[in-house]
Amino acid sequence: MSLQQVRHWVFDMDGTLTLAVHDFPAIKRALDIPLQEDILSHLAALPTAVSAAKHAWLLEHERELALASQPAPGAVELVRELAARGYRLGILTRNARELAHVTLEAIGLAECFAVDDVLGRDEAPPKPDPGGLLKLAQRWNVEPANMVMVGDYRFDLDCGRAAGTHTVLVNLPENPWPELTDWYAVDCFALRGMLTG
Ligand SMILES: [Mg+2]
Repeated sequence: MSLQQVRHWVFDMDGTLTLAVHDFPAIKRALDIPLQEDILSHLAALPTAVSAAKHAWLLEHERELALASQPAPGAVELVRELAARGYRLGILTRNARELAHVTLEAIGLAECFAVDDVLGRDEAPPKPDPGGLLKLAQRWNVEPANMVMVGDYRFDLDCGRAAGTHTVLVNLPENPWPELTDWYAVDCFALRGMLTG
């Protein structure tokens, strides 16, 4: 299958459609989380009240970041091109769904994604678990082999491999994971060029 034939596209959000702005070490310092620990797993293991308070802080911090989101180079042009072709588009993110919408609004892509096709941390297990992609495959009534997962990190690629979709890596100067990648583009302008070129 060539990339031009793929009509079902799922995107990671942070660092893929937007410029990466999360400063994870700063978040961990603010929430008193050891640097080597995963933020969401750490919060899940805390007593309920403490966990809830820290989740609230995280959500507020992320809301500010979402409002200030900037699109990654070529992301708006790529997604609008795919939407104009009538392709089915989804988002799979570790962000909260509500904040994913704030982000998509901020970069001008909200109208390209159906609300139910945006899966956040409460709608799908965290990548690299394939659950989110399989959920979209079922919703869209399409074989994973006819879908592509686009991301900027190896968890996005692992997730695609585990679900049986194709994979695209973007926004890195070179590809550190060729064995996990079906197509690689230095940014979304280059990826769009692969569709039309
Ligand atoms: Mg990312």
